[in-house]
Amino acid sequence: MEPCKGGQLVNLPEAAQRALDAAPNPEGLSNAGYALRFCATQPNVAMVLSGMSTMEQVEDNLRAMAGDPAPLTAEQLQALRNVHEAFASLGMIACTACHYCTDGCPKRIMIPELFSDLNTKRVFGGWNPGWYFSNVHTADGHAKPSECIRCGKCERECPQGLPIRELLTEVAAEFE
Ligand code: SF4
Ligand code: SF4
Repeated sequence: MEPCKGGQLVNLPEAAQRALDAAPNPEGLSNAGYALRFCATQPNVAMVLSGMSTMEQVEDNLRAMAGDPAPLTAEQLQALRNVHEAFASLGMIACTACHYCTDGCPKRIMIPELFSDLNTKRVFGGWNPGWYFSNVHTADGHAKPSECIRCGKCERECPQGLPIRELLTEVAAEFE
């Protein structure tokens, strides 16, 4: 599941997109196509499930998987490693905004939105994420990250295995 990581691999940060575009891509694979093809051509993978919400996405996925899809070339695989490095260098939190973690939070902390604020700040800087943090994501009864009581309920629900409590301290350090 989640070859495109909840859509995160579709809209890449600039440095990551540059790294991907550096590889020859004669089939014109989209970013999502790259992700599908990578997963589908791994040994022992029988099925790849992709979430699609528009006809355009369905058609794009079909193009990437038509016929007997060839594995990515060595150059393309290297480009994916470079994309990974670009992500790692930005210090982005790999939250997919699935919201599985939020229902049980006794402090109603808007966990994925706060992670998005921090990711946006780290990638683009500027005042915008701080404004959303203060006026939307910690408003209307939603606690600040520093008010987390560290009960751990959220981490038991996170399919990405994120250390949410620790990451919330990073959000607090940036915005509070
Ligand atoms: S650890 Fe913090 S963020 Fe997670 S559910 Fe408990 S109070 Fe909410
Ligand atoms: S469960 Fe994990 S991946 Fe999903 S929104 Fe919460 S922190 Fe993000």
